[in-house]
Amino acid sequence: FHLRQQDLLTLKSLGEGQSGTVTKVLHVPSNKLMAKKQIMFEKNFKVQNQILRELKILNEVHHSSIIEFYGAVFIDSAGISDDTETNGSSNNDTTEKESRIPNDAVSHSSSSDDKKIPSNNTNYSSENSGVNSNGVLICMEYMDCGSLDHILKKLGFLKEVYLSKITINVLQGLNYLYSNHKILHRDIKPSNVLLNSRGEIKLADFGVSRELNNNSIADTFVGTSTYMSPERIQGDVYSIKGDVWSVGLMLIELSTGEFPFGKKDTPNGILDLLQRIVNEDPPSLPRTKFSNELCDFVDLCLKRQNERPTPLELLDLPRSFLTKYQNEESGPLLRHLSRKLKKLKK
Ligand code: ADP
Ligand code: MG
Repeated sequence: FHLRQQDLLTLKSLGEGQSGTVTKVLHVPSNKLMAKKQIMFEKNFKVQNQILRELKILNEVHHSSIIEFYGAVFIDSAGISDDTETNGSSNNDTTEKESRIPNDAVSHSSSSDDKKIPSNNTNYSSENSGVNSNGVLICMEYMDCGSLDHILKKLGFLKEVYLSKITINVLQGLNYLYSNHKILHRDIKPSNVLLNSRGEIKLADFGVSRELNNNSIADTFVGTSTYMSPERIQGDVYSIKGDVWSVGLMLIELSTGEFPFGKKDTPNGILDLLQRIVNEDPPSLPRTKFSNELCDFVDLCLKRQNERPTPLELLDLPRSFLTKYQNEESGPLLRHLSRKLKKLKK
């Protein structure tokens, strides 16, 4: 359907990353909950065209382990921090409105409304879309149990049986993106893997956010732990196996509760971290605490590029951490996890 900014009712903030902020919204005409990601960028044709191209690809991506893309709207905030209170009547921006966009100082919602839906409030697919805009709203499937980093914070660590099912979904999603669209994810990390109460695990943030992220290495890593593979840090050929490395690191983090290289957020710390990823032996899980299957699986994911399996090869292993729980169905298990999380909230 055609997405219009004024049809989106802001419900609450879901979080913010480096590239933008994510808000839970209701698409009023369809009565559908959505996650709206707002990304600001420089007014620049090259960037806009790249984004347009990527959005077009998103339209063709459909898989049970990938977040559905509903549509995008280019915006021109013209010095005003947008927040969908564009239909004047909706005052629910008071809920949890936080303005994190550069110009948040000017986010008074009153008289700004008029200026805010300029003529270029177009659907991305129309001819002149994106022209002269400095931001884009991307609407996607809302995942009501949130991302694995939030879930990890609530639970401290995730049991192996959950991790096994989560990993199968993640690898199936990666395999789909690559074999059907030649897309590498490039940003696998707990905050980009989401759960819903139907017991589904889905990947978010491939493609688009990559282009919008600052390309300088230092900028990209400030404040985050990096899940980047050694070969990518070194600028070597980056392949689908880079995503597998990230899955390996993510498994260590989710099973132990801690990112294996520790968090670094000072500039020096980042360089040190990158150096350690390249030079040190890859991290591994203690075999006294975790099953051999999980330890072996993590070791496989963290092998040097040429020895590292692809997602499909991992999925096809005859006996592995992924087949270990094959008698237990994924859906009911993950629904159980989602109910557990709901109870914790109260
Ligand atoms: P990051 O992934 O680096 O944390 P993002 O801007 O991509 O930054 O996302 C911010 C937060 O919004 C995420 O940590 C996640 O918890 C939440 N989020 C993102 N997409 C969705 C979604 N589709 N449904 C529910 N929550 C989401
Ligand atoms: Mg994200």
